Amino acid sequence: MIIVIKPNSSREQIDEVMKEVAKLGYDPRPIYGATQTVIAAIGDERTHHALESLNVLPQVEQVMRVQKRYKLASRESHPANTVVSADGVEIGGRRLVVMAGPCSVESEEQLLATARAVKEAGATVLRGGAYKPRTSPYEFQGLGKEGLRLLRAAREETGLKIITEVLSEADVEHVAETADILQIGARNSQNFALLVECAKTMKPILLKRGLSERIEEWLLAAEYILTNGNPNVLLCERGIRTFETYTRNTLDLAAVAIAKKESHLPVIIDPSQGCGRADLVRMLCRGALAMGADGLLIEVHPNPAEAMSDGQQQVDFRTFREIMGELAAFAEPNGRTL
Ligand code: PEP
Ligand code: MN
Repeated sequence: MIIVIKPNSSREQIDEVMKEVAKLGYDPRPIYGATQTVIAAIGDERTHHALESLNVLPQVEQVMRVQKRYKLASRESHPANTVVSADGVEIGGRRLVVMAGPCSVESEEQLLATARAVKEAGATVLRGGAYKPRTSPYEFQGLGKEGLRLLRAAREETGLKIITEVLSEADVEHVAETADILQIGARNSQNFALLVECAKTMKPILLKRGLSERIEEWLLAAEYILTNGNPNVLLCERGIRTFETYTRNTLDLAAVAIAKKESHLPVIIDPSQGCGRADLVRMLCRGALAMGADGLLIEVHPNPAEAMSDGQQQVDFRTFREIMGELAAFAEPNGRTL
């Protein structure tokens, strides 16, 4: 950290700050200027006391961080891309991963038909919520354990891996028995107790970016999983809340480029929640691959008009096949394959 001392402070005032810095576990190195002095506080800012509190001293002008707040998630700590394996499906390597399926698991017929269709079109992971984080308590909350049973049946038949959301700490253990990848939803992105519980399962965890979460906060949420010994984190950009009303959320493609730059973790894009409109999903998939995403999470439903959640943004089988048919061309310029 760098502590900037106010101009014309006395030597005693500077010494007082140095003492505080040392007390808080850093090695203070002053640089005395003619009118102004700065103190470099040497030490790991992430594991020591945050010196921002020194701002309360009247002779301190400013305290500045030098290091990023996240450590294990950072590219500096791990220059090579991380490749996460979801029971054999590699995510973050040359091959892009497509996770597709309904927003919610609704019935055996709906899930199995969707599983067959997305597999046929080239997806390797089946998505489907059994526990749904709905804005209103009057809306469909998901089939719960019955939904998990249907997901297992779909895996059994198709060989697709399963990604499904875990909503609460109490559900982690039994959801992890079914899921090959645990999904942390946008509303739980900073539910740190849930993140720690999920980390313990050692399953891959897809961490959605929160509704109004900054990139730094998103990476720090990932850090909670990584510091708890689970390196299998997938970052998922799913749009953020903005003033725009033509879309449900604003898909932040710059965040994808930044996440890839700042972190070694794979980045998945969810174009479905990202815009909330079935008619835009195809174009956002193109954009996602152009931005260097490692995979896509796409909502697909046999009959979106009858969906029990997010019908307006789910694509039908035909549209999904068309999207899959053109993705290779958009992946290629980044050296990726489908
Ligand atoms: C979903 O994937 O259906 C979902 C609820 O996503 P999010 O948490 O991004 O809103
Ligand atoms: Mn949804």
